[in-house]
Amino acid sequence: MKAKVIEGCISCGLCVSICPEVFRMSDEGVSEVYAEPTPDNEESAREAAEGCPVSVIVIEE
Ligand code: SF4
Repeated sequence: MKAKVIEGCISCGLCVSICPEVFRMSDEGVSEVYAEPTPDNEESAREAAEGCPVSVIVIEE
């Protein structure tokens, strides 16, 4: 499984609080994937993607 954040993040911070092992806020102030999901955290990465208010987290199986 792979995750990425496409353009349009509104910097709400939800994904970082749900899954800090995968997402962090970049120097530009938007979310980025800094580590690919592992079996240990892919469920919370998926949850972050589902919860993103602007649906800019893309999960590829
Ligand atoms: S949940 Fe979506 S809008 Fe919020 S910080 Fe993460 S990527 Fe950005």
